[in-house]
Amino acid sequence: MNEQSNIAVNVDSEPVAFNAALAEPFNVLIVGVGGQGVIMVSKVLASLAQAHGFEVKQSEVHGMAKRGGTVFSHVRFGPKVWSPTIAKGEADVLIALEWAEGLRWLPHLKRDTGVFICDTKRIVPPFACLNRRLGAPLRYSTETAEQVSAYVSEAYAIDATRMAEELGNDRAANVVLLGALSTVLEFELPEWEKTVTSFVPKKTIAVNSAAFELGRNWIAEAKTATPPDDAATKAVPVHAHYSARLEITDAWCKSCEICVMLCPERCLTLNADRIATMTAPEKCTGCRLCEWLCPDFAIRVHLDTEAMMEAAR
Ligand code: SF4
Ligand code: SF4
Repeated sequence: MNEQSNIAVNVDSEPVAFNAALAEPFNVLIVGVGGQGVIMVSKVLASLAQAHGFEVKQSEVHGMAKRGGTVFSHVRFGPKVWSPTIAKGEADVLIALEWAEGLRWLPHLKRDTGVFICDTKRIVPPFACLNRRLGAPLRYSTETAEQVSAYVSEAYAIDATRMAEELGNDRAANVVLLGALSTVLEFELPEWEKTVTSFVPKKTIAVNSAAFELGRNWIAEAKTATPPDDAATKAVPVHAHYSARLEITDAWCKSCEICVMLCPERCLTLNADRIATMTAPEKCTGCRLCEWLCPDFAIRVHLDTEAMMEAAR
């Protein structure tokens, strides 16, 4: 597991224990990009709060979710909640499933007491590719974890996607973060487990349960670990080289040729069976246009973020 990108700062706080005496609404903001499971996280949290007898208000935006657009969800709960949205500087917890999205929403977090839990996963949008050359600089966030720590009371940067990948299902990264969140909001553990289980497909219960435990244990360890040294806290990538790999699901490809025609680098072609195939991997910039434009979701672009991290060190 890549521990280098796991960072925790200011971790000496106690979990928030809820009871009927909660005077003000508690605000949790969940952000990410399409397909990461932002809405599932917010539904789990809303369901837990409701089961506790709190009034819950939830609002979400997921316009271009299926094409990698921004997705966010506000969850507010308490004895009485009037508004469904969280104002700037009012979030008690910010959960981010993507690094740059997390940084973008930081101004919403309470400066003195807010808790920031962020996946270090980087999803670089096509417009961040500044020139058509593999490994060219990207217009992507350059903040280091140290800089971020100056803006938050308590922060956890977790390599949740990689943890989930190692469990065999990268889609469980959101549940790794739920496991982390469960250490901050003190609903009873069996309630967390039951609710998470009820929101995932039956065949993925085992992997999601493991992901939940992994996130929970990671935070517990982070709270007792020695603070990271300077080298470890500088681990945020960016103007860096990286490599891209395409995963094409042949059975889903309908031979429409959209990816072939629109790839800016002309990396793709249809093979003899009229299935999209990578023919020039050395030219692929990882811009993800093919992934987002394929009407059949047959392409996934994997950026080697480990290479990005290495280059940034
Ligand atoms: S856009 Fe999708 S369905 Fe069309 S050729 Fe490419 S991979 Fe196949
Ligand atoms: S193959 Fe896909 S990710 Fe690579 S350059 Fe072409 S459109 Fe971009």
